[in-house]
Amino acid sequence: MSDTPKWAWLDGEFVPWEAAKLHVRTECVMRGANVFEGVRGYWDERAAELRVLQLDEHLERLHRSKKVLRLQVPYSRWDFREISLELLRRNEFREDVHLRPTVYFGEGDGFGYSAETIHMGAFVTATAQRARRNVTGIACAVSSWQRISDRDVPPRVKAAGNYINARLATVQARVDGYDNAILLNAEGKVTEAPAACLFLIRDGVAVTPAVTSGILDSITRGTLLRLFRDELHMAVEERDVDRTELYHADEVFLCGTHTEVLPVVSVDRYPVGSGTVGGITSALRDLFFDIVRGRVARYAAWLTPVYGRVPAAPGATC
Ligand code: PMP
Repeated sequence: MSDTPKWAWLDGEFVPWEAAKLHVRTECVMRGANVFEGVRGYWDERAAELRVLQLDEHLERLHRSKKVLRLQVPYSRWDFREISLELLRRNEFREDVHLRPTVYFGEGDGFGYSAETIHMGAFVTATAQRARRNVTGIACAVSSWQRISDRDVPPRVKAAGNYINARLATVQARVDGYDNAILLNAEGKVTEAPAACLFLIRDGVAVTPAVTSGILDSITRGTLLRLFRDELHMAVEERDVDRTELYHADEVFLCGTHTEVLPVVSVDRYPVGSGTVGGITSALRDLFFDIVRGRVARYAAWLTPVYGRVPAAPGATC
């Protein structure tokens, strides 16, 4: 299909893509006052099916983000699950997609939070197969920008305003000649990359910063922790991670819904391990792509089919 989707969804209605516009005076546009999710759908050519990865987990996190900002909408998670699937069907996607449910403040009295100033929208676009085909890995720098903390801008709330922090670190890394950044928290511990979580592997153990270190509670991170344990039979540790552990690691990779599994081959120009993509990262990435493409039956429950689904009872999955 063309790059332009046909439909978006705004405040209860499916609207043509071109009509899905916000006024410049909304708090959403002016101050980034929204919470959102990024959800992936994977197209399976063989089965002619589009499947959404971990839709309920994303809607649960959207709900938790909404709660912190006191954003109330007249739609349940169940409603929003149905809206998301219908939006995908109406767009007749036959390729990988990225779905963005969003709850935002519109025009109102500045920092007010009354129901009439709160809106909900969703849009979906086709995605290029970018990160997952990166076979050489990327070069990261530890950023001099510090990761936001729960004391000021809560990292586990997926709010648009949080991404100024990610933008500053990403742009600085690129200006300095790196592909991406890794941010430390106020205690100097490793947190995550801009919009992606991080794992390192050392002596056969998979290590990732704890959810209390200042990271988004990443759905992909949780998925990979499980795959390390259940499929690769490796020990995992969720704990504080020092900067120099990145330099001593055998393998490092970033992960996220958008990033998928992306190998890091150097940090601050120190080669990670041999300086090439590690064997465990490669094996994990292959397994991840097999699962999201629907090729591993025991993980079929992580995928919601868009076209051929049998509806579950309301409340059963949300
Ligand atoms: N951290 C941040 C700040 C992110 O935006 C993302 C992407 N949602 C991630 C981590 C990875 O999270 P997930 O696996 O849930 O996509």
